[in-house]
Amino acid sequence: MRPNIRSLRAYEAKEIPCRAKLDANESPYPLADCRSRKFAIPLGRVMSNRYPDPDAKELRKVVGSYFGVPSRNLLQGNGSDELISSLITTFGGPVLYPVPTFSMYGIISQALGAKGIAVPLDRSFDIDLERILKTIRSQNPKLIFLSSPNNPTGNCFSSGKILKVIEKSKGIVVVDEAYQPFSSQRGFLPLLKDYQHLVIMRTLSKIGLAALRLGFLIAHPEIIREVNKVRLPFNVNSLSQAIAIAAMKDRKRLHSSIKTIIRERDRLQNEMEEIRGITSFPSEANFILFRVKYPDKVYSLLLKKGVLVRNLHSGIKGCLRLTVGTPEENTLFLKTLKSAFTEGSFRRREV
Ligand code: PMP
Repeated sequence: MRPNIRSLRAYEAKEIPCRAKLDANESPYPLADCRSRKFAIPLGRVMSNRYPDPDAKELRKVVGSYFGVPSRNLLQGNGSDELISSLITTFGGPVLYPVPTFSMYGIISQALGAKGIAVPLDRSFDIDLERILKTIRSQNPKLIFLSSPNNPTGNCFSSGKILKVIEKSKGIVVVDEAYQPFSSQRGFLPLLKDYQHLVIMRTLSKIGLAALRLGFLIAHPEIIREVNKVRLPFNVNSLSQAIAIAAMKDRKRLHSSIKTIIRERDRLQNEMEEIRGITSFPSEANFILFRVKYPDKVYSLLLKKGVLVRNLHSGIKGCLRLTVGTPEENTLFLKTLKSAFTEGSFRRREV
């Protein structure tokens, strides 16, 4: 076994029974109701004995029109996780990323034998520009991953700093915009025409289609052509293609679910601010990071009431991450926290 695999820790995605699953940054609203008649025809056309369309032509067209880019600028992945792997396979390391961030940049770098360079974010979870630029000069990374909005902190990095990184990097800069649909910022798609070494990564996982495993790179056709060489043939299956094509056409449903999630996020944020003993961090995503004194106890208490959140305590001291759920799920979360912190067991101990 290669030593880099021996020392690797697998990505943890446990299945824990609960009433409100608020741990994985999924949407609480399925974008495709596969039982409805609308999906009967596209699913009925899938030929189970044939390989899928290797180039996902129609899917790229439909998704391209959603992003406002032609299909030649798009590359499809079996989730954006797969695309992170394809990018590192194509361009190699060193791979630079600020931390804390999405753990797969580091895990996949290590799995592929590329050197990962983790540069800490500053105290407000923004890019530490001086440190990053210094690392770019000394290590000349072939790839830089910037998740903005960042998982798990929830904030967007300041766009001026991202721009500086793009300008100073000789390697590829990937702005991972997995949570862009929930952000008030413009995002970096409009800058693609100015920078050939800029790659935008998007996913359909956060907008109600996580089950399909669909992610996309958006970049200059020359980059798309090169990364496409390492893409495994038929990486996106026919069922996912058929469902996504039909679902992405339903813009009304898509936009209304995003609007509800943003509204609920803001409600959660306002109400969490009122609870003494909790520090929540501002979010531009579909989740909220918050800090408490005894995170393991708060995690267990929530789970006892059926609310599953993500315990990040080992990565960011004292922190838990809550995914925005349905209004009912969010209310259950708030009620549980409020009663514990303002009336119940945690009050005296100031958890
Ligand atoms: N990038 C970021 C920042 C993420 O948080 C996630 C999912 N947790 C992904 C990429 C992976 O998404 P996908 O489901 O498309 O593989």
